Amino acid sequence: MGKDELKQLSKNDLVRLVLSMQERLEALERKVARGRKDSSTSSKPPSSDIVKPPKARPTKGKKRKIGGQPGHERHEQTPIPPEDVDSHHEYSLVVCPCCNGSLRGSRREPRMRQQVDLVGRSVRVVERVFFASWCAHCRSHYYPELPSGLASGYFAPRMKALVAYFKGACHMTYSTIQKFLADVYRIPVSTGHLTNVVLDVGVALGVPYEELLAVLPDAPVLNVDETGHKDSGKKYWTWCFRAPDYAVFKIHPSRGACVLKEVLGEAFGGVLGADYYSAYRSYMGDDVLVQFCMAHLIRDVRYLTTLPDKVTKNYGRRVLEALKALFKIHHRREKMSPAHFLVRMEKAKEHLIKKALGAPPRKEAQNLAKRFKDHAASYFRFITMPGVEPTNNAAEQVIRHVVIDRRITQGTRGANGRRWSERIWTTMATCAAQGRSAFQLICQAIEAHVHGAAPPSLLPA
Ligand SMILES: [Zn+2]
Repeated sequence: MGKDELKQLSKNDLVRLVLSMQERLEALERKVARGRKDSSTSSKPPSSDIVKPPKARPTKGKKRKIGGQPGHERHEQTPIPPEDVDSHHEYSLVVCPCCNGSLRGSRREPRMRQQVDLVGRSVRVVERVFFASWCAHCRSHYYPELPSGLASGYFAPRMKALVAYFKGACHMTYSTIQKFLADVYRIPVSTGHLTNVVLDVGVALGVPYEELLAVLPDAPVLNVDETGHKDSGKKYWTWCFRAPDYAVFKIHPSRGACVLKEVLGEAFGGVLGADYYSAYRSYMGDDVLVQFCMAHLIRDVRYLTTLPDKVTKNYGRRVLEALKALFKIHHRREKMSPAHFLVRMEKAKEHLIKKALGAPPRKEAQNLAKRFKDHAASYFRFITMPGVEPTNNAAEQVIRHVVIDRRITQGTRGANGRRWSERIWTTMATCAAQGRSAFQLICQAIEAHVHGAAPPSLLPA
């Protein structure tokens, strides 16, 4: 509208014009505030700050299949050259393994096995040559067996553990591990072999993982969180169940309450720490005790204080003040007697609930008030229940590893890959929580798997 046109408007029209412009401005401000939402002003998990929206990938022609491409030469394992071999052993049979008779040497090609091992802190290459012998009595060729107690395979158990550690703890891709081993240690290896090593380690970690999964329903307190996972382009969810001294990851196609029922049983007997996500609300029903995350609540309240509407903003400020007062007392817990602490916390809690319930007739404010109307008790269990934390930080901390892994490795391909991920993440987080070496545990698990011995346990002592 031009200047001259404006001059011709009546006072009434001008007022209406200003009002409609104000409305548009507020709508725009709201839109901007929404766009700025991050973990500090909303219930979005802190992990979402480091995750960029996925880029749309242009699909050019047919997708390639995983593994060898048609027309490509098969990748044979390149042998390690003699100058890189650290020790050489030759094996020949003395007597026939079948009839115990004497043997003659044979011109038949000997069998050569190279093995890479991690001995102490060094990589060593062992070469074993097995010579053929001829038994005239049995009319047969025989080769010596690998001496008992030695593990077969190109990579010895500790070397397998190293590869698993690179993949699981360092987020390295198979081709990065391949590059590292070739460049630093001059160890040639195919990515296909590395894939098999990692899946083997996943199998070796099966029992320790299942043991932890089985004790989850009996945990007195668990913090739970979930984040997206990709498997061959399909959407899955990685759930994280965190106790003080262990963590269990579970990859599941669902983000719903059914996963909680499957893992924790129909009604979990402990206290469940979680954000205000609907699956937890639907699972809690009447029987399950929940502690909703106070950090998420504070972010949501802080978000209200960034809105353009004055009434909502002031309501947000009142609730935020009451929250701050509550946590001021909580932080000074050590300086008070338990009884005094409880009295003061109860008072601060009642004050906060009163402020939260006194919401103005605005949509955002009413939403927050409804949470207190429906679930006030589930925000304050930490006050009276020992071991219950006011925030869901414990779960969010360990799930961050998974979020980083997703960005770097592009997810998994198939059920075996998902099992591997669940087990290695569980091993890493649990060993960290218990102050143990994850690498040593992986070594023990593979050794036990190779020799058919009892695997190490991840259960808390
Ligand atoms: Zn014989």
